[in-house]
Amino acid sequence: MADLTRTYDVLVIGGGNAALCAAISARRAGASVLVLEGAPKFYRGGNTRHTRNMRCAHDAATDILTGPYTEDEFFDDLMRVTGGQTDEELARFMIAQSKEILDWIVEQGVRWQPSLGGTLSLGRTNSFFLGGGRAMLNALYLTAEKLGVEIVYDAQVTDLDIADGMFLSAAVKHGGVVQDVRAGTLVAAAGGFEANIEWLKEYWGEAAENFLIRGTPYNCGTILKMLLDKGVQQVGDPTQCHAVAIDARAPKFDGGIITRLDCVVFGIVVNRDAARFYDEGEDIWPKRYAIWGRLVAAQPDQIAYIVFDSTVLTSFMPSLYPPISGNSIGDLAQQLGLDAAKLEHTVAEFNASVQPGTFDHTILDDCRTEGISPPKTHWARRIEIAPFYAYPVRPGITFTYLGTRVNRDSRMLMRDGRPSANMFAAGEIMAGNVLGRGYAAGIGMTIGSVFGRIAGKEAAKHARN
Ligand SMILES: Cc1cc2nc3c(=O)[nH]c(=O)nc-3n(C[C@H](O)[C@H](O)[C@H](O)COP(=O)(O)OP(=O)(O)OC[C@H]3O[C@@H](n4cnc5c(N)ncnc54)[C@H](O)[C@@H]3O)c2cc1C
Repeated sequence: MADLTRTYDVLVIGGGNAALCAAISARRAGASVLVLEGAPKFYRGGNTRHTRNMRCAHDAATDILTGPYTEDEFFDDLMRVTGGQTDEELARFMIAQSKEILDWIVEQGVRWQPSLGGTLSLGRTNSFFLGGGRAMLNALYLTAEKLGVEIVYDAQVTDLDIADGMFLSAAVKHGGVVQDVRAGTLVAAAGGFEANIEWLKEYWGEAAENFLIRGTPYNCGTILKMLLDKGVQQVGDPTQCHAVAIDARAPKFDGGIITRLDCVVFGIVVNRDAARFYDEGEDIWPKRYAIWGRLVAAQPDQIAYIVFDSTVLTSFMPSLYPPISGNSIGDLAQQLGLDAAKLEHTVAEFNASVQPGTFDHTILDDCRTEGISPPKTHWARRIEIAPFYAYPVRPGITFTYLGTRVNRDSRMLMRDGRPSANMFAAGEIMAGNVLGRGYAAGIGMTIGSVFGRIAGKEAAKHARN
């Protein structure tokens, strides 16, 4: 039983990957550590529960990765997906550190497995957690407990006492009682504000009502807001986030990966007006899947439909819900509530524009359209073999990028540029330092592991000096 009346060396707020990496690393550095997880034990681990893999640089193939993925290549990928909107020094530092994480995380009990196949194409770059994010978390929690990290669940931090950039105490609501918890240092690892619809509405307006939140309902950004309100420097654009197109029938929160749809490259995507609006074949799916949430968010009523035919039905992992089907395009349109004539026209126009080519979804193949706007630049094949299918999709918000600015020690910077005396941040809550916009699969966990490990070590060092 944790003793909330004692003063700990390190207080970690959050219970996901970043928090656990920080807690373990602080404890290994000799600090007494308390973890306050706002969720009940069964739901511990925030968005990390839903993860599958992590992107780390490596100079040679490993047991489970097919080849090298150099620091430079990782950095190039990051520059491409963010359009250069990253803190280059921190990004390069994170990428260099990610090499060690491949072994460090195994030392904490986590196991790897070879990449999943399908449209993911991640076998060279991303290591998959054996058993997925929940198994990964179980391993981290087990290690943390064995090391003597104290963990309290159902422990919502409701206030932070911060004076002149220095953390003094946190108010925690636990068992119906609010208590002040003191610690020498703070590691904030409490996620972004993606589950806070009211906050999202400040930037997205009423459209945010139509967003689905893919992960935990506990990431409401309460800690982020307190830190920003109490003088920590803000980083990132509040409208930027990781958002994918997910099954529109998914629950409002926590649908996870089983409502994600990876079939955009196999068909076309139309909006409420049965019109295409973006190149479905722009790039390899792991580099493009994360733009589709924003694209759908920009469409009328924040709804779109991925349309394909029976030839590709088994080419991708199925969603929780079956696709909607029709024996003709007109029939399908009726099932979807779309204008049948318009959808028939859109499909016919698309089919007429498809050029001959050799289909290969693992490379940027030569199957493309000509003479239509927007084009489909790869993987374009005619949609012509009944039955026809569609998935309705909505923006599925994964995590937000607005965050606290940090330096290489994961130490928060205050608005005047000074480093905080004793406050560190890791994971989603500071992801905006690296991710100005865009995303490449697996970087979320890299950010949490690298900066979590450093935050824990630095917090312990500070507390014990
Ligand atoms: C469906 C899905 C799939 C994903 N797949 C991948 C993937 O395969 N690879 C990848 O790299 N990334 C993936 N991500 C992103 C990844 O989940 C995050 O980048 C990563 O887990 C963030 O870790 P974190 O520790 O910062 O946050 P989280 O794991 O979300 O943890 C935040 C924690 O803070 C707690 N908390 C919040 N507020 C408070 C409070 N006031 N008091 C106390 N506790 C609080 C929450 O309960 C939670 O435990 C995925 C996300 C989703 C939703």
